[in-house]
Amino acid sequence: MALKSPQEYVESLRALKIRAYVAGERVESIVDHPAVAPHINTVAKTYELAHLPEHEAVMTATSHLTGRKIHRYTHIFQSTDDLVKKIQMLRLLGQTTGTCFQRCVGLDAINALYASTWEVDRAHGTDYHQRFCAYLIRVQDQDLMLAGAMTDPKGDRSKRPSQQADPDQYVRVVERRPDGVVIRGAKMHNTGGINSHEILVMPGTALGEDERDYAIACAVPADAKGVVFVFGRQSNDGRKLENGCQDYGNARFGVVGGEAMVVFDDVFVPHERIFLDGEHDACGTLVDYFATWHRANYGGCKGGNADVLIGATAKMTQILGTMRNSIVKDKVTEMVHLTETTYASAIGASAMGHALPCGSFMVNPMMANTVKQNITRNVYEIGRLAHDVCGGILATMPDAKGFDNPELRPYLEKYLAAAPGFSAEERLKMARYIENMTSVTTMVEAMHGAGSPQAQRIVMLRLAELDKKIRMAEKVINGTDDVQDIPLRAVPIPAR
Ligand code: SF4
Repeated sequence: MALKSPQEYVESLRALKIRAYVAGERVESIVDHPAVAPHINTVAKTYELAHLPEHEAVMTATSHLTGRKIHRYTHIFQSTDDLVKKIQMLRLLGQTTGTCFQRCVGLDAINALYASTWEVDRAHGTDYHQRFCAYLIRVQDQDLMLAGAMTDPKGDRSKRPSQQADPDQYVRVVERRPDGVVIRGAKMHNTGGINSHEILVMPGTALGEDERDYAIACAVPADAKGVVFVFGRQSNDGRKLENGCQDYGNARFGVVGGEAMVVFDDVFVPHERIFLDGEHDACGTLVDYFATWHRANYGGCKGGNADVLIGATAKMTQILGTMRNSIVKDKVTEMVHLTETTYASAIGASAMGHALPCGSFMVNPMMANTVKQNITRNVYEIGRLAHDVCGGILATMPDAKGFDNPELRPYLEKYLAAAPGFSAEERLKMARYIENMTSVTTMVEAMHGAGSPQAQRIVMLRLAELDKKIRMAEKVINGTDDVQDIPLRAVPIPAR
């Protein structure tokens, strides 16, 4: 069963007995909860598309461990072609769902752990890599949905993990037993965690010699004893709870990734699920690997999301009768330009990838960080242009329930209708989609997902090789690099 069907995914979630809280209340079945169901639908699409022949090339891969056909979301990148296909997969899924489909965090986590365990074993004589590969084969064969958990609460940001007044502000080992360890702490902004089968816990920062207890990477079943999910709020999420709400926006697939806080309240992790324990010197590279892959992703997924947003905006211009206005057309063109710019960077980062020591492939780090840096601006600008083109109705629209009220319906149909051939309800649905997909939750996710903007700028400056660039400038300007027998000559000035 290397490729789960969407139904199998949903039923497998139903079988998990997780401890989850939504809006402050314990929820027995997240599968049927209206706040979580749209995010489950989105992940179900990742399972569905893998079964369609037309998407087989981007949605599936061949396991280098078993030779079996697997979902691309459980694959270790074997070439730059794999990296490019991943970005193509993300754009396809973004176009299909219009939102975050969550599984990329787990994908980048397995790749980061695959490469890191290989390197740690060589440096420390451990056997993590073999252990991780055995775990990965099970993930591939069962087509599991994995959530990567990296961001710690961090407490006082001026202090390191070992200096915090509360030592649990970073996930740590609190007990070592002969058969495993007990971990305590929490991870924040956990994309898709609440509807995953397993959580891959990783350190969230580089660690020092005195922080070995924080150097823990492991796999925890979502329903392990002591794991608690606290589902996050999102813009306009109260609308999801209105039974049968017709104008929620992206009602079927939701807004971003259904992020949750996940608490590890003294969770026991058996030996075979531990992939790093105490090797503090490996943590910086592990975080770096994960972040670099994930930063390139945004050119694919946000590109696909933007395609849907551009489509909704263009549809609104038809409804409003402004589609032939050259100023409006230019604004829509700018939305396209911003989208394609970031997608091109992600494809470039993938095509210019390189092999890691373990043999798997890494994207070009400079380009990957540039992708994410652009996303922190372009998603806002694309949203701003959508607001500009579609008008104030995005913020002032009446409730769709008004159409059910015979006293109101004639007014709504008369005064919300615009160009002939389009209904008021159609306008309302498009506008509500744009409102939700350019909301605060969506924007903040684009800003801080895969690391806040300054994190990318630090890497970009580190990789910029300014010394080299200074020498380039000196050579060009001073001519110090000229080949001796072809001296640079001044261009003769023609006689008047
Ligand atoms: Fe995937 Fe994009 Fe969501 Fe990250 S933000 S999990 S890359 S869809």
